[in-house]
Amino acid sequence: MEKLSHAYIVSSASEEAGLEKAYELAAKMLCSGAGDRPCGVCRDCRKIKARVHPDLTLVSQLTDDKGVRKKEILIGQIRDMSADAYVLPNEAAEKVYIIERADTMNEQAQNAALKLFEEPPRGVHFILCVQNAARLLPTVRSRCVELRCGDEADAEDESIAKLADEFVELLEGGDVPGFTAWCFEHEKMDARLLSDFLFGVKRRLTEKLKAEPDKKRIMGNIELIDRCLKYQTVNTGVKHIFGLLAVRSAMETRKQVD
Ligand SMILES: [Zn+2]
Repeated sequence: MEKLSHAYIVSSASEEAGLEKAYELAAKMLCSGAGDRPCGVCRDCRKIKARVHPDLTLVSQLTDDKGVRKKEILIGQIRDMSADAYVLPNEAAEKVYIIERADTMNEQAQNAALKLFEEPPRGVHFILCVQNAARLLPTVRSRCVELRCGDEADAEDESIAKLADEFVELLEGGDVPGFTAWCFEHEKMDARLLSDFLFGVKRRLTEKLKAEPDKKRIMGNIELIDRCLKYQTVNTGVKHIFGLLAVRSAMETRKQVD
């Protein structure tokens, strides 16, 4: 079974899309079906879909008595979450907390949350939905696996764009030694950059797919990138991911030549 990390940051320009992604990830964590998770049909999946699962808690900014949302998530809310996290799950084997607009946690709240992310109770996962992960403390970010979603509309970072362009050119050009050398050269890439980089590569391949007669080859490469994105969600090291890319693409190219 896929090993999931205990803390994720889902960053998305759209709050709705980010939350949707967080629920999907939570379903993966709590699903009790056999086979691929989330199965979508077990009791846990259905309750998550209906937003009534007792082991999934949504933490959001409180509202005042006039119904106006407070600016920040407060330390008291994090303390309550922390106390609750030590209570065993009701129905599922594990528990999940989704923190909506987690980038509104003030510094005190983030420091309180950090303690929890460092030593989480067994079987407890946290998903932080943010619009801007840079608003989180670096210590908090370093404890979480970062995922991005719905980022088509986002401007791509310049250095990421350059890396993704180089990578796709080598991958598509079939220059195996050049590609392998590139992978080894970048195997120390910051883990936080990696998902942006992989999404950038995927976007480029998907673009190419539209104009490419040999769809099968590009589809193979997209699958490869998807696998890397999936590995990243389970905390596989950057070095391993680049190793996998180098080996796999060399194999693919050889297959085409034979
Ligand atoms: Zn299920």
